[in-house]
Amino acid sequence: MSDLVKIVSKHITLREGRKTLKGNCPFHPDQSDSFMVSPEKNLFKCFGCGKEGGPVEFVMWIENTNFGNAPKRE
Ligand SMILES: [Zn+2]
Repeated sequence: MSDLVKIVSKHITLREGRKTLKGNCPFHPDQSDSFMVSPEKNLFKCFGCGKEGGPVEFVMWIENTNFGNAPKRE
């Protein structure tokens, strides 16, 4: 399984919390560390925009964010 913490760390700075790592969400304008990563469960959750999932979802959304203005393929 891919290591979510490593993948997320490439995109945002994560800070140590108690059981989770925290950082600014890459998916919405965030200044309050809404984004949490659990290394134990290999899952993330954002309390700001509600996105959550594992490494697959993170990569998918990061790619969508980078190409946010691309036209939709039908
Ligand atoms: Zn968010």
